Amino acid sequence: MSDTIFGKIIRKEISADIVYEDDLCLAFNDISPQAPTHILIIPKKAIPRLSEATPDDHALLGHLLIKAKEVAQQAGLSNGYRVVINNGQDGGQTVDHLHLHILGGRSLQWPPG
Ligand code: AMP
Repeated sequence: MSDTIFGKIIRKEISADIVYEDDLCLAFNDISPQAPTHILIIPKKAIPRLSEATPDDHALLGHLLIKAKEVAQQAGLSNGYRVVINNGQDGGQTVDHLHLHILGGRSLQWPPG
């Protein structure tokens, strides 16, 4: 397990506001929300970033997207939402453990900054 802040959340060494958990992933509210609803979904497997995923992760990546849809629905985002994966330095990634952002609850701008 990676020793990032998200690894510590998975191991329950630090607390998070968890909204969903199963054997493969965990979803929790972002500590610094950029929209009225801002949830992170992370795999329990320590994949540092999308660019380091392998074909072995095929089913896991699909699972994360399906859970993103279900968590967004559970959060009441019936008017739409955005799913974001920041990858690497230019992508603005700050935590080296793959995560999907679910952002919603307001009209989001495009393109992002
Ligand atoms: P990124 O910039 O894509 O790597 O996103 C990392 C996200 O993790 C940011 O939106 C942070 O606000 C969020 N974050 C960092 N630490 C925590 C934490 N302890 N609990 C919840 N969210 C966190």
